[in-house]
Amino acid sequence: MTTTPEQALEQAALAGVHRLPVPTPFAVGKVNAYLIEDDPLTLIDSGPNYGRGLDVLSESIAAHGHSIEDIGLILLTHNHSDHIGLAEILVEHSGAEVAALGAAAERLANYDNEAEAEDEFAVDLMLRSGIPEEIALALRSVSGSFRGWGAPVQVTRPLADGDVVELAGRRLEVLARPGHSVMDTVFWDAERQFGFVGDHLLPHISSNPLISRPLDGSPGRTRSLIAYLDSMAKTRELPEGSLLFGGHGEPIDDHRSLIDTRFASTERRKEKLLRLLGEGPRSGYELAQSMWGNIAVTQAFLTLSEVIGHMDLLEAEGRVREVFDGAVVRYEAVG
Ligand SMILES: [Zn+2]
Repeated sequence: MTTTPEQALEQAALAGVHRLPVPTPFAVGKVNAYLIEDDPLTLIDSGPNYGRGLDVLSESIAAHGHSIEDIGLILLTHNHSDHIGLAEILVEHSGAEVAALGAAAERLANYDNEAEAEDEFAVDLMLRSGIPEEIALALRSVSGSFRGWGAPVQVTRPLADGDVVELAGRRLEVLARPGHSVMDTVFWDAERQFGFVGDHLLPHISSNPLISRPLDGSPGRTRSLIAYLDSMAKTRELPEGSLLFGGHGEPIDDHRSLIDTRFASTERRKEKLLRLLGEGPRSGYELAQSMWGNIAVTQAFLTLSEVIGHMDLLEAEGRVREVFDGAVVRYEAVG
């Protein structure tokens, strides 16, 4: 590290970029929105849908001499409730445009139905992975009770990978980086070497490659970890010394070594999971239990996503195959 977080944030502030931490009720703690003082006044992500979040956000914006009514453009990094929950309320106050990956526009607009479909998908995947029904259903009701932290939002400016968002004083390149979610988007300011990365890359925790329904509506599930490694390899190519501003925590000034750390731990975890298959075929649930023991119910889908992601890697390498007995998928070492 050559730049302290304070220096990075000061460098950003000199360029009119301000981190606005917004409290959340989630274990992750605060979520970062970013205010870009340009024309239009731009906000990246919104925080979750609740009064305290809105209060803190409007106070932070006021501290920089602006108000929510002044926001002209909202950019969304991904479709998780702690990032998008307040977006439509901000639009009601400001009339701001909302720019996000066009392929995800329907998922954002139909938030409630989509969340319901996602929960059904998750229960199905958990049962097929050998997770006991009572755990799967308990997790589903937890997820349902969290739904209100998000809200539908209409995308008025659909973006595609490679597009450029032009503000009066800067250009932000749109870089699709799926993996943590189906629609992770990095907004890249090449002139200043600033990247707004959402949860694509976080400094202190590795982002969960959550398994989801494919964005294009095709049946089946995402190969989230495979997609995520591919996305990180692309982000790794951003210039050394770039400052990456994430959805949680401090700015990242050493993204290459951070990504290398993520690659190395994926590799270690993959080999460890493969060794667990030495004693015979295992379900995703059994593998997750061997790795992490009996974890909190709320973590069951996260750990399952991790296990399935690593099995996808091993399967792609021809070292593991899936065996489905009509009820539960098990993984078997090949050879
Ligand atoms: Zn997220």
